[in-house]
Amino acid sequence: MTVRYSVAKAASAATTWGLRHVAHRPAANLPGKLALKIDPALLDELRAKCVEGSVITVGTNGKTSTNNLLADAFQAAGRSIICNRTGANLAAGIASALLQQPRAQWGVFECDELWLAHVLPHLRSNYVLLLNLFRDQLDRCGEIDRIQTSIAGALAASPETVLVYNADDPLCARIADEVPNRTIAFGLAESMGLPQNTVADAQMCQKCDGMIAYRFRQYGQLGDYYCESCDFARPALDYAARDVRIAPAGVTLEVEGPDGTQPLSTPQATPYAAYNLVAAYALTQQVAISAADLQKAVRAFNPRNGRLQRYDIDGHPVLLNLAKNPTGFNQNLKIVEADEAPKVVAFFINDQVADGRDISWIWDIDFEELAGQPNTVVVAGGSRANDLQVRLKYAGIRATLGDIHDAFALARALGEADEAWKGCGVYAIANYTALPPVHEALDKMEAAGGASGVSEEAVARAADTVRQGSAVRQCPGGVSHSAEVVRGEAEEGSTEMRRPSGALSHSGEAPVVIVHLLPDLLNLYGDGGNVRVLEERLRWRGVPVEVRRVPHGGTVNLAEADLVFMGGGPDREQKLASEQLLAMADDLSAYVEDDGPLLAICGGYQILGRQWLWGDELVPGLGLIDMETRRPGTSADRLIDNMVLASPLASHPVVGYENHAGRTYLGEGVEGFGRVVSSCGRGNNDDDRVEGARYRNVVGTYSHGPLLSKNPEVADWLLARALERRAARTGAPAPELAPLDDAEELAANAHMVKRLS
Ligand code: GLN
Repeated sequence: MTVRYSVAKAASAATTWGLRHVAHRPAANLPGKLALKIDPALLDELRAKCVEGSVITVGTNGKTSTNNLLADAFQAAGRSIICNRTGANLAAGIASALLQQPRAQWGVFECDELWLAHVLPHLRSNYVLLLNLFRDQLDRCGEIDRIQTSIAGALAASPETVLVYNADDPLCARIADEVPNRTIAFGLAESMGLPQNTVADAQMCQKCDGMIAYRFRQYGQLGDYYCESCDFARPALDYAARDVRIAPAGVTLEVEGPDGTQPLSTPQATPYAAYNLVAAYALTQQVAISAADLQKAVRAFNPRNGRLQRYDIDGHPVLLNLAKNPTGFNQNLKIVEADEAPKVVAFFINDQVADGRDISWIWDIDFEELAGQPNTVVVAGGSRANDLQVRLKYAGIRATLGDIHDAFALARALGEADEAWKGCGVYAIANYTALPPVHEALDKMEAAGGASGVSEEAVARAADTVRQGSAVRQCPGGVSHSAEVVRGEAEEGSTEMRRPSGALSHSGEAPVVIVHLLPDLLNLYGDGGNVRVLEERLRWRGVPVEVRRVPHGGTVNLAEADLVFMGGGPDREQKLASEQLLAMADDLSAYVEDDGPLLAICGGYQILGRQWLWGDELVPGLGLIDMETRRPGTSADRLIDNMVLASPLASHPVVGYENHAGRTYLGEGVEGFGRVVSSCGRGNNDDDRVEGARYRNVVGTYSHGPLLSKNPEVADWLLARALERRAARTGAPAPELAPLDDAEELAANAHMVKRLS
């Protein structure tokens, strides 16, 4: 034992005592952080406290639940453990747990994906359980490859560690493919037959850069996949679940493993609970924990940490859950949608560092599904409530701004106004840092035996909202009034919303054709949300619109297009997209020279120039704009931040979010889309504060996903150009764009401008 170690240990003990007894705060992180500062080799020393070894759970979704379940299973099997149960999952949290808890047989830790590289080489755990990798906090992580490289590096540095991984996830399987460690694969052998969501995180094969296809897909990118061009495919499953049944009472399944078939069940009725259960089974089998002990732990598992936690408050059944990325959120929406009874649904989105400062991912959530739900009242909360409200508006949902108390005030007011709403369900879905305050408020209400903390003012406000009928009203089609209000702004009302894309309007007017190029490759941070905004802003004005999505390998006649859109993409996808776009270069150039409007974001914007760099490789661009993109370092050397621009296309400041490794330099005389006027954000490169580029009716920008949602003037500038083009193309008159009520969009814009100035 070194002197450093002793000092670190003493310092941590003192801090733990101080935090617990003086400050009355949990001591989950700080003691470990301090101790690691004093002794960076601390974890090597602490390893010995787990006498038989340790297990580390990593993955984007389900870490805390699965790890806590594992911990329970170890204990049910009579093994003593050290565990970071509260979810403090950086090196500091793991060190704190090791310092504070007594020596035990096993360490059972959850670890953040990017921190595994700092933890595993020291703990040299016996097992790493890898659950899944979804796009999450890309502002912290860059592109998803970076997380994979980091996890693979951690495993390579601890070659004795056995990797137990979800083989249904091509991103996890690729890691297993690359590392020298022994691996054990688990997955679901059959399709659960779930409805599919739009965005999946791995479209391309990481082995050969071909496209991935599926025999069946469960959700996100999970499923039975194979590459269309090489031999990469879902590996053989060592633990294969079959006969997966999801019913309101929970999930039942059978796992076929090396030692036979084992039936298992969990009271949690979600598809991801099925994955977590199979993962826990595969892992516990390695350490000789019986299925009976695991099952005992599953049955007794009571999440008190806000993950799928149930309450009964004032006769309202309440469900609280965490959702912090599109895949997790879409899974939560499925739970809400399964309940057709009257309900208040409250979403909370924060944008602190732990959540990811960039919230464009909310545009990748399929909120549209909720718009058709009867008897649903929606509340938007959290530090980015305004953005959420705008996102919901474009999904056809009118949301009230508020916190969890406002949600209860609404539930109460609705019940007072209408018998059917008495005791309605309340759903609260929150991202990372938004969860604890909601959790705490619900715990307090439960302890107080009723919805405490709801102010008179909130009740009066809610009663007002209900009186005005702007919260909910039954309407004939079973569609909630919340959606109807938004639709009501369109000529023709809700029927226009529901009309299939491409149909002529009653007047026989030709639709405005929006072409979304390569949405399967170029849609990194909710960029496709821009198309949604353009589409809806036409519909609300009664202008018929058709969106043509042109996937990889697809074709399109640009002579029929009135507006073209390209999003951003990870390097690999961007390169493949480049090849296809280069094959269309003449058509694209003719379209642009003919004043066709085009919006290109980030990776798509880079492709417009003469050339761009992919690592060391120079990739030719379309040459539509005189500019080029260089790269000073690796993909990890990125410009990532919020930014506010002054742009000639808008009288309001333009709010955006950038995240790119490439640095773009405009040729002589090429104008920017705007100038960065906030102290944060860089724009095209590190030097000149110019952001994006404009040429004829082309706008290229580094501003991701929410660009048009918070900057409606830019959206309307593009739409005006599209209407002019449609007029020139079809001989139809170009109508003036009728003004819309942009109060919510401008509130979201103003919120960010205020914060960033
Ligand atoms: N891959 C490109 C870069 O990092 C573009 C990324 C993006 O579209 N966000 O520069």
